[in-house]
Amino acid sequence: MPLPPAPSGMRSWPVLERGWVWLCGAGPGDPGLLTLHALNALRQADVVIYDALVQQDILSWAPKAEHIYAGKRGGKPSAVQRDISLRLVDLSRAGKRVLRLKGGDPFVFGRGGEEAQTLVQHGVPVRIIPGISAGIGGLAYAGIPVTHRDVNQSVTFVTGHDQSGNTPSSLNWKALSEGSQVLVIYMGMKHAARISAALIEAGRPADEPCAVVCAATTPEQTVLETTLGHMAADIEASGLEPPAILCIGRSVLMRQVLDWQGMMSGDAPRDLDPLGRGRPAEAS
Ligand code: SAH
Repeated sequence: MPLPPAPSGMRSWPVLERGWVWLCGAGPGDPGLLTLHALNALRQADVVIYDALVQQDILSWAPKAEHIYAGKRGGKPSAVQRDISLRLVDLSRAGKRVLRLKGGDPFVFGRGGEEAQTLVQHGVPVRIIPGISAGIGGLAYAGIPVTHRDVNQSVTFVTGHDQSGNTPSSLNWKALSEGSQVLVIYMGMKHAARISAALIEAGRPADEPCAVVCAATTPEQTVLETTLGHMAADIEASGLEPPAILCIGRSVLMRQVLDWQGMMSGDAPRDLDPLGRGRPAEAS
């Protein structure tokens, strides 16, 4: 796939030089959500090291590169992470043009910061290419705006488990519950019961709308609409599997008017005014 000519303000597309590592986000799944910088990187790389959540079909855009799978899902020991970082160092020292491709955005719950830090500590030159994070783009594909003026003036991104695989002990659920009208939880499937119990105990209503968006932006995308109180049981009953984003908050209701994928396949919007504002959306 050719890149369009670089616009005049940019002069030329960046060149991936030998010995460099570009740490790049691949977006949540749909290949169309790659950035042009990501595509430019794929065209030039000698080696692509990619994670489990990267859609493999985009590797066909890196035909001359060696493809190395560095898959690792949920809560494995951090030694594995160190091996990947050191492998990147070795490849760069061998004079390769290295593309490290991660799902979503490399700096959002993706350990991209750690990998980049290791590279810099070893004197390896790096470039960071952001990507569309699942907690924003994945929700958009489900018809859920991550912020919506009538609902939230802030949004909090939360990880549902830490390095040991447990719900992070550093999370202050009371503060999260009181401080953020919308919570977007990554890696939350395993501990959904614990998360919803903690939020309800901290004061969030059990009937608060929630969505579970699985395999967002891929052909397998599945969306479960539920409530905080029923979320864990509904996940269990549905048999849905990770990867999934949990969205907790009234912005989930907007899916009733914004489920654009459903509308593309012929569904009518369920409710044109799901927040009950009783006025045109654009009126202030
Ligand atoms: N850096 C990534 C997040 C990596 S953590 C990003 O910015 O999106 C892995 C978690 O991301 C998964 O457990 C899941 O919660 C979420 N995730 C990634 N891709 C997803 C997808 N296509 N659909 C739903 N959730 C996804």
